[in-house]
Amino acid sequence: MTSWETLADNLTAVRAVIAAAERRWQRDPGSVALLAVSKTKPLEAIMAAMAAGQTRFGESYIQESVEKIARLAVPSVEWHFIGPIQSNKTRPIAEHFQWVHSIDRIKVAQRLSDQRPANLPPLNICLQVNSSGEASKSGVPPEQLRELADAVATLPRLALRGLMTIPAPAQSLEDQRQPFRLVRGLRDDLARSGHPLDTLSMGMSDDLEAAIAEGSTMVRIGTAIFGARATVKP
Ligand SMILES: *Cc1c(COP(=O)(O)O)cnc(C)c1O
Repeated sequence: MTSWETLADNLTAVRAVIAAAERRWQRDPGSVALLAVSKTKPLEAIMAAMAAGQTRFGESYIQESVEKIARLAVPSVEWHFIGPIQSNKTRPIAEHFQWVHSIDRIKVAQRLSDQRPANLPPLNICLQVNSSGEASKSGVPPEQLRELADAVATLPRLALRGLMTIPAPAQSLEDQRQPFRLVRGLRDDLARSGHPLDTLSMGMSDDLEAAIAEGSTMVRIGTAIFGARATVKP
């Protein structure tokens, strides 16, 4: 069985990297939140992270995540759904999560709004933008973002908070920064057209520095906290 003893050290190291990047890129201290991506990882790993003070967790697979949330029902913990969503599988997401980062079509947003339980606050939404063109299939194309934002903003049980992106892998810092810069620009455009957004969900284990340089307010970190994921689930 894996021991999660090093997990607190990993978290401390990731927090230090974020704090250093905030300083290096003249970002306000504490302006970049850490979402711990716990998909495929067991309850013990999440509990170890909670014990080390982590309060935001990201999950990508519905059944797995609903089971985990049920077992770890703690009011202080915030659950973010970050994976692809089939439109016939929205209900458990509407019922169990506080945030969804992966909205790229109105049909899914409409269903989440319809299914959001009345006793819960509105579901926080980030629109996923395809920032790498042909190289990525998921995410709304930049030229269709405005229309999607207009539509999502009218849905009563959703709160439009920001943009999310998963760029194609790139090696150099400058190459990594480009798609993030594009998304930051789209955020600024939306602000000018009546959608002030406070969240840029950008940056993973291998590109968080570039994302923070370009204004990320939430980095989604899995591997650097929990170690490599053994298998890719379908
Ligand atoms: C898995 C995943 C992550 C975490 O990636 P790491 O490289 O392990 O940090 C971040 N965002 C999304 C959308 C993911 O699916």
